[in-house]
Amino acid sequence: MFKKLFAKLRGKKEYPNRFLKFYHLHHDRLIEERRGSYAERKKTGICVRCKKPSLSGIVFCEYHQSRQKEYNAKARGKL
Ligand SMILES: [Zn+2]
Repeated sequence: MFKKLFAKLRGKKEYPNRFLKFYHLHHDRLIEERRGSYAERKKTGICVRCKKPSLSGIVFCEYHQSRQKEYNAKARGKL
């Protein structure tokens, strides 16, 4: 019972079981996945960052592909 009180004080939500907890925590993502955003776009050739058509073989449009290259170069430079 102390655990429950403590959780309440910290504003944490208590779940009856971990499956429900998982569902609540990942609700948005699960819905999004059901709509098939990433996989669907990949399949239909639409950029996963915006709604432009993506380049063939990759999941980004021309703009986001160049942004991704920049990001990768920066990430590598840090290592
Ligand atoms: Zn894009």
